[in-house]
Amino acid sequence: MVPIALASTFAGSSDVTRAVEALAARLPDPLRDLAAVAYNYQWSWLEDGASVFATLDATRFDRVDENPVGLLRQLPEQVLARAAGDQDFLARARSLVHDVARALDAPSRASVTTPAPIAFMCAEFGVHRSLPMYSGGLGVLAGDILKEASDLGLPFVGVGLLYRRGYFHQRLDLTGKQQEYWVEVDTDVLPAVPVTGDDGTPVTVQVRVRDELVSVAIWRVDVGRVPLYLLDTDLPGNSAVARWITSRLYEGNRAIRLAQYTVLGVGGVRALRALGIEPAVVHLNEGHPALAAVELARRNGDRRALDASLAAVRDRVVFTTHTPVPAGNETYTDTELVEAVGTLMRELGVEPREFLGLGRADPADTRQESGMTPLAIRASRSTNAVSAVHGTVARTMWHPMFPTRAADDVPITHVTNGVHLPTWMAAPMRRLLAQHLGDDWEQRADEPATWAGVDAIPDAELWAVRNELRMRLVDTVRDRSVRDRLARGEPIEYVEAAASTFDPGRLTVGFARRLATYKRLHLLSLEPERAVRVLGDHLQFVFAGKAHPLDEEAKLVNKRLFELKSAPGVSTHVVFLEDYDLSIAHPLVSGCDVWLNLPRPPYEASGTSGMKAALNGGLNVSALDGWWVEAYDGTNGWVVDGGPAIGDTATAKPDDSDEARDRRDARALFDVIEHEVTPLFYERAVDGIPHAWVARMKAALRTIGPRFCATRMMRDYERRVYASSERGG
Ligand SMILES: *Cc1c(COP(=O)(O)O)cnc(C)c1O
Repeated sequence: MVPIALASTFAGSSDVTRAVEALAARLPDPLRDLAAVAYNYQWSWLEDGASVFATLDATRFDRVDENPVGLLRQLPEQVLARAAGDQDFLARARSLVHDVARALDAPSRASVTTPAPIAFMCAEFGVHRSLPMYSGGLGVLAGDILKEASDLGLPFVGVGLLYRRGYFHQRLDLTGKQQEYWVEVDTDVLPAVPVTGDDGTPVTVQVRVRDELVSVAIWRVDVGRVPLYLLDTDLPGNSAVARWITSRLYEGNRAIRLAQYTVLGVGGVRALRALGIEPAVVHLNEGHPALAAVELARRNGDRRALDASLAAVRDRVVFTTHTPVPAGNETYTDTELVEAVGTLMRELGVEPREFLGLGRADPADTRQESGMTPLAIRASRSTNAVSAVHGTVARTMWHPMFPTRAADDVPITHVTNGVHLPTWMAAPMRRLLAQHLGDDWEQRADEPATWAGVDAIPDAELWAVRNELRMRLVDTVRDRSVRDRLARGEPIEYVEAAASTFDPGRLTVGFARRLATYKRLHLLSLEPERAVRVLGDHLQFVFAGKAHPLDEEAKLVNKRLFELKSAPGVSTHVVFLEDYDLSIAHPLVSGCDVWLNLPRPPYEASGTSGMKAALNGGLNVSALDGWWVEAYDGTNGWVVDGGPAIGDTATAKPDDSDEARDRRDARALFDVIEHEVTPLFYERAVDGIPHAWVARMKAALRTIGPRFCATRMMRDYERRVYASSERGG
């Protein structure tokens, strides 16, 4: 068999080792091995990982966003000395060290065993709350992919950007309007190290952005066996503008955004080369890194026409498209692109005209703007969407690029998303399933047979886990809303009331995701009387999410819902949690009984939060779009579907406007909640257990677990994308 390249063999490992030694030097002897644990996010998906560090100082651990490097650096000597003498703690620490080592050494279960790695390039990575290099679903999925690749022992490296100020943080003012602010990341305490060369100085690469030759440094973050390389332009030699390139994720300034794509794509390929990594496959995750293909094509001074040299590297490039929303497939004017990369293209021997053409659906139609998605599709041997319906939408959307083919023959396939089970299934559920499905069940999570044992779990045990997870969420909600209300300057009575909001026994419904208009949070405000009634009588609602800073419409929806709290009898049953991120996502997706997903079909490419909820026994109430089209089977959740246009007006003319559809879907949503969800939840036997509800939870676990875990997703990528040079269509 061909040897498999593990993380330790990739560039920067000696830099990580040096950082570990420096941290270990300040720890008492018995704790020294924890330094190595702190510098590899592997701990974050082991069962006792977070709790070992939290035992040292739970408050401080939370304050440093659960970053163990930050924690171990800060802890006073006496605290460390006390832990070093605590035999119970040492036993747990030793067993964590052992578990990390075992995970890093586990035999590979990958079926792709090239000696060279797959280079996975993405504009954002959501690995952990302490590494704020993500905004939402795309990044969290990318983080899950790295973790799963590590678990499988797939030779893999990640390439992204190190945003010094990450994504924005959110606060609501007293009226419920979103305010944004950015926080500078302290790179000194991140579990990230600058990669240095043989001479001990940082490795840098140069990329021409606009007219400046920008220097780019490379950081390494270890995610299990997978190194994640993050590029950073905030270096003293660069101009102030160049230093800003890797400042904020999804920067509003279009010129800076193009600069980011240039650094990520072209800089990413140059960084890999500088690190001595020759990838077997370059995986462009979403269009942002697409310029990588141009750099790959031109690296040996190839001066053929650009499309010919791209064809020569096509066998090594694959592309995943993530959004059917036009805004997600940004386009740029010729002027913008020429300003951003014209000089770079000329350096690469590429005519700007040629390059601009490859970013258009029809290269010859100069009236069209150019974007990264058509370039990525042209440069890749395989393009995939992220769910079956998204595949259909993407084939239609990009049909103009393949005018000689029928729409269903457009060469775009799909690999449906999945979520990393050890990251997203809460510990009590993992323990329960381990008892019933066998010790190594997680390694077989993608096999339906593994989950068959779910049906035999006593209802009382599963229900007890559900109650525990809901209780944890109630604690989180109370804690956070006291703090949120204080920070907003609410009256003290209202602040104090937060400590008793939410009822640990009440049906708990959640909605959390980016607040984009197509996600339709506003459906909840279309039937205000019914919303107030269900909230007053039977359920409690927690929601969270950030609106894009420039999306005034989405901010307004949020504000309107926020105002619901003033209706009598409702304020203790509805809570908005500010600043949605990974730290809130965990308690939310695991604690809610019902998870709402209301996209306007067909705008949701996949959606992943509902999969996370299902892994914790949550039931989805969702519009039929994205992953739910594949998952829903009538027994494992509910569908919100207001039906086809039937005409809301007296003339009975079909009304298929968005507004009419929204009204119908809002009505359908409240019908499902009032007539099906609520009665089923409160239908209790003498033992107090809602057995029919628990049966649905079991159906959700059994049917959704194997098909929407990241193991299944990565197996699909191995078989259908990485291994073959099959071009689809
Ligand atoms: C899973 C996740 C998302 C994606 O949610 P969707 O349902 O796909 O919209 C967004 N943000 C965070 C923090 C997540 O964990």
